[in-house]
Amino acid sequence: MPVEAPATPEESARAVAEGFARLYGAEPEGVWAAPGRVNLIGEYTDFNDGFVMPLALPHTAVAAVSRRTDGRLRVHSADTGEGVVTLEVAELRPESGGAGGVVGAVGPVGAVGWAAYPAGVVWALREAGHEIITGADVHLASTVPTGAGLSSSAALETVVALALNDLYGLGRSRPELARIGQRAENAFVGVPCGVMDQMASACAAEGHLLHLDTRDLSLRQVPFDLAQRGLALLVVDTRVKHALGDGAYAERRAGCEAGARALGVNTLREVEYARLPEALDRLDDPTVRAYVRHVVSDNERVARTIALLDAGDARAVGPVLTEGHASLRDDLRVSCPELDLVVATAVEAGALGARMTGGGFGGSAIVLAEAGDTAAVTKAVEDAFAAAGHTAPRVFPAVPSAGARRVG
Ligand code: ADP
Ligand code: MG
Repeated sequence: MPVEAPATPEESARAVAEGFARLYGAEPEGVWAAPGRVNLIGEYTDFNDGFVMPLALPHTAVAAVSRRTDGRLRVHSADTGEGVVTLEVAELRPESGGAGGVVGAVGPVGAVGWAAYPAGVVWALREAGHEIITGADVHLASTVPTGAGLSSSAALETVVALALNDLYGLGRSRPELARIGQRAENAFVGVPCGVMDQMASACAAEGHLLHLDTRDLSLRQVPFDLAQRGLALLVVDTRVKHALGDGAYAERRAGCEAGARALGVNTLREVEYARLPEALDRLDDPTVRAYVRHVVSDNERVARTIALLDAGDARAVGPVLTEGHASLRDDLRVSCPELDLVVATAVEAGALGARMTGGGFGGSAIVLAEAGDTAAVTKAVEDAFAAAGHTAPRVFPAVPSAGARRVG
């Protein structure tokens, strides 16, 4: 059954503020929200200076925040069942938070557990010169499923970064805040992610895709009015927890860097699609060759998708998605049987196209379908999962939603 739409952050702001007041004994100075995301196309391209095209989900992390002047950072999540975590801002070090990216569920990521995400943001802001940050109280609640490839972590980082930016008057732009969130995740938490997730959370616009050039963070908001065109984009959360911390992500990253070195370019972004065959001929290592083929061809699929959308031909994007999935499955080898089953079943049941989205090894797939076909496609996927003995997937529409904002 499709999952109900989550409460909007505007609706839940009051409850989160009340939770804050119960915990800390005073009203918060404000309440902020930042969404999770799905990526339409352009996967594993963001750490290669390439192109991505995410959209923000209606699922958000909502945080009530106040400043403190005594150097203390207190964080609490309504979703973990843990108590308040108290840290000293001046003592925050990457080693205190990071644990090499143990991820996958709401749970420990190191010495300070999930608190490494908000603490990492405070650390990264201070590293960026904002020593004015002398503490904060944070209470948050999130509707972004964790470890499902929908960037619950970036939602957390972005909401805290935006709140502190507003409260302390830091004057940072949205892309700068996204870089801060990425730095927190890379250096403090210890997950070597690119910048797409934080950019989507910080910069997305309602009803739009974010066409992002990750080399210089230039972006374009692309209208994505699926409903008007009689189309729907579904998210299928396979419920298989992804575990990017097991080294697979870092291994793909290292392979891409090795490919760039062998080709004499700074990043794979510089390899033109038209010259891909020549480039591949120059690579001896079959694994590196396959990684390069994926990255260069996925950049081209982003360009093709943009051209199709600009031409008003959203239906034709479907096969581009399915092609992208094959590349992630066969060349990058970051899919898993459950994701492959979603894609194969959805396409067979009449969807226009489908692919895994996010880091892979579990997590979520997206399915583009005629609006009138979504019930049949959903049922086909659910039946296939039941027949294969998998946990029932969670299916919901990917409604392109607004990026981070103040909500109370
Ligand atoms: P994803 O970003 O795809 O959801 P990650 O593994 O990158 O998966 O991030 C998930 C981690 O983020 C969780 O294990 C937890 O540490 C933290 N997290 C996410 N949402 C919350 C929340 N509501 N409360 C506490 N921690 C959270
Ligand atoms: Mg994440």
